[in-house]
Amino acid sequence: MSQDSPGPAVAFADVTKRYGDAVAVDAVSVAIAPGSFVALVGSSGSGKSTLLKMINRLVEPSGGRVTIGDEDVTQAEPYLLRRRIGYVFQNIGLFPHMNVAENIAIGLRIAGDASGADGASARVTELLELVDLPAAFARRMPGELSGGQRQRVGVARALAPAPGLMLMDEPFGALDPVTRDQLGTSIRALHDRLGLTTIMVTHDMAEALLIADRVLVMERGRIVADETPRDLIAGKGGAAADALVAVPREQSRRLRDLES
Ligand code: ADP
Ligand code: MG
Repeated sequence: MSQDSPGPAVAFADVTKRYGDAVAVDAVSVAIAPGSFVALVGSSGSGKSTLLKMINRLVEPSGGRVTIGDEDVTQAEPYLLRRRIGYVFQNIGLFPHMNVAENIAIGLRIAGDASGADGASARVTELLELVDLPAAFARRMPGELSGGQRQRVGVARALAPAPGLMLMDEPFGALDPVTRDQLGTSIRALHDRLGLTTIMVTHDMAEALLIADRVLVMERGRIVADETPRDLIAGKGGAAADALVAVPREQSRRLRDLES
């Protein structure tokens, strides 16, 4: 599978989301470059998921503008918009009574792919290969897969309509550390190979630093740091970012101490 064009730019202009008196996202303005891999990090309740969901209109802003490329997202019908945006979240929820191929084909059907059964199955094989699963997995049931394999199928389903933009909300949240690391590496490789724009929410700063080109740190609905991993490590992100970076840094220091 090759992408016709690289992933689009995404921009937030003074975007706010209020729930009653509570402000979940507070006047955020940020521009994400085409083809970049951005991690959105912050503690629980800081507004990460709300910010992400305003891109594919699962949440409508109370104010401000979200654009993909040069198009305001409110100009598109939500279902048409979502064909162009892959969305992966924790416990992606495969249909338990459908096999892997059928679960992936749902992504094609949602996208209105007109190709017949043969076209769909060739596409399923291609998508399985993309997420590093053997073609024979097409006939397995979700119950016969590990958690990591299920998430890979979820990623394949999200990629089925060849979206340029991937939104991931704690995609590895429920996985063990080894699987998590492998999947993170696969996702980054996919991003590079397909030329996607990827925005990934994670509460794990180490993961963000190791996978992303750019890390946005959210606190109480605002972006309080916006740096490359290298600059964050160098302490340029400010207090909130430093506190998050301190955790993996201290862990790696203690591990090095154990080694020596
Ligand atoms: P995160 O993903 O960083 O954990 P969220 O974006 O889910 O944070 O939530 C940000 C804030 O908005 C939280 O205080 C949360 O309780 C609130 N919130 C999120 N969704 C809703 C909703 N549908 N109704 C009311 N409050 C919400
Ligand atoms: Mg969340």
